[in-house]
Amino acid sequence: MTIDFSAYDDNNVFARIIRGELPSKKLYEDEQVLAFHDIAPQAPVHVLVVPKGRYIAQSDFHENAGEAEIAAFWRAVARICRELEVAERGHRLIANEGSDSGQLVAHFHVHILAGRRLGRLVAEDS
Ligand code: 5GP
Repeated sequence: MTIDFSAYDDNNVFARIIRGELPSKKLYEDEQVLAFHDIAPQAPVHVLVVPKGRYIAQSDFHENAGEAEIAAFWRAVARICRELEVAERGHRLIANEGSDSGQLVAHFHVHILAGRRLGRLVAEDS
């Protein structure tokens, strides 16, 4: 599947979840941020945190979002980790960007993975 990372697509799956057009198992929501469980969990805890704004990936978000929006996003990530009680035993945050990373959805998101030992950082491509 080829994904166009050059322009924001308002019909990407996370945009549709944010608009309520697709269901999700919501964990946290405020004016700027939404968090929900990943549909195909890779660990006992696998949560996706997304800003509600239209950002393709992390560099777009950090280059173009306002300071308050960026702070609200990362504070929400920290709060969700604490509420999931994963902070103490540890967790991993992942933000894929572009084709080499395997990014599948072109709306900036952070994965929170936890609940088991997570193994090495990077797997070889198969
Ligand atoms: P990426 O590879 O872009 O960093 O990760 C995209 C993630 O979104 C994947 O882990 C995938 O399982 C998840 N995902 C894709 N479609 C949906 C969906 O419709 N609902 C939910 N909850 N997660 C999705």
